[in-house]
Amino acid sequence: MDVQLLGGAREIGRSAICIDDTLVLDFGMDSGNPPAFPVGDVDPDAVVVSHGHLDHVGSIPTLLSGDARPSIHWTPPTYDLTMVLARDTLKLHGGSYDCPFTEAELARVAEVSETHGYREPFEAAGYEITFFDAGHVPGSAHVLVDDGDTRLLYTGDFHTDEQRLLAGTTARPDADAVLCESTYSDVTRPPREQIEREFAESLRTTVWEGGTVVVPAFGIGRTQEVLCLCEEYDLECYVDGMGKRVTELFLRDENREFLRDPDLLRRAKGNARFVNGRDGQRKRIAAQNTVIVTTSGMLHGGPAMTYVPAIRSHPTNKIAMTGYQVEGTPGRDLLETGSAEIDGRVMRVSAQVEQYDFSAHADQAGIRSFLESYTDTPILVNHGDRCEAFADELRADGYDATAPELGERIEV
Ligand SMILES: [Zn+2]
Repeated sequence: MDVQLLGGAREIGRSAICIDDTLVLDFGMDSGNPPAFPVGDVDPDAVVVSHGHLDHVGSIPTLLSGDARPSIHWTPPTYDLTMVLARDTLKLHGGSYDCPFTEAELARVAEVSETHGYREPFEAAGYEITFFDAGHVPGSAHVLVDDGDTRLLYTGDFHTDEQRLLAGTTARPDADAVLCESTYSDVTRPPREQIEREFAESLRTTVWEGGTVVVPAFGIGRTQEVLCLCEEYDLECYVDGMGKRVTELFLRDENREFLRDPDLLRRAKGNARFVNGRDGQRKRIAAQNTVIVTTSGMLHGGPAMTYVPAIRSHPTNKIAMTGYQVEGTPGRDLLETGSAEIDGRVMRVSAQVEQYDFSAHADQAGIRSFLESYTDTPILVNHGDRCEAFADELRADGYDATAPELGERIEV
């Protein structure tokens, strides 16, 4: 089996893998400035997708240009999330050179889509494919590719610990090679319950003291995770941005089975007040003693552009970040300097700024525990800022590990 990384090699963003020039696994985009897309020219017979995050699905409609109509295989939530993200990309960039695809190409995605559940093997481009729950976001999968001779396990993004929305991954299918993500290969996190407790206490204190808390959160997974926490800790909250749509989508009949506890998310949705999206209403909400969960998670857009300026001047208020902030984003600037460019204007923030690590990725110990099932299996490391260093560490511990370069062909 010939494996070629067209993106996500020694980097994060634009994940894309090509097998024997006929099967594509994930086809993402890096939404940085400028955006980046998978390299090379591919014309696959089929596409298999691990999960619905932009860096794994953002370029998929481009595979349907001209006469190309490869079948696309994914779980029902991944299909729904891809459509939400693609429409968002069209809205943001449609018509500009930054937009990798057209409305027509996006419309074709629905025609070639085939959805599958976990542990239900199916055929794609002549391979037998099986999805296993990866515990990252609803519908996320480890992808096992079997050509009858060799089995490649592509981990996709995964989490080994339980979250409110999902249980961690437990599947460790037999494989002859493992392509493993390494996003947090050098991070050790405190127990999730501890982070949750500190977060809830902090929010409660600010509201008690008469402040407003803005919780910037990614719309897919993180927003719903925070809404579940607000429900569990009995905190009133508002929700705004893409997370509203995604919450409803996760509660659809075909997607509920991909949640650990659909009833918890249903109650969390009932506990949260949905903002209808007018700026006047947002400003009124920002004046209340409450919690506002909103996109974008790194403060480079979304309704947070109204909420942050509205609450920034008062030290009783708080901005509680819920994840890693990429260098160069307003969220990172705010954490490091106390000011940030919000909606095109650099502003000083007197409100308190805190950061909580609600990552949906395994940390170092989690990745290591996953790989303990594959000590005699060649490991290819991808999707990380330090893939080579992590491969070195694995080799020092007796693994057969490498970190392929962009475009390199590996025979497994
Ligand atoms: Zn992901």
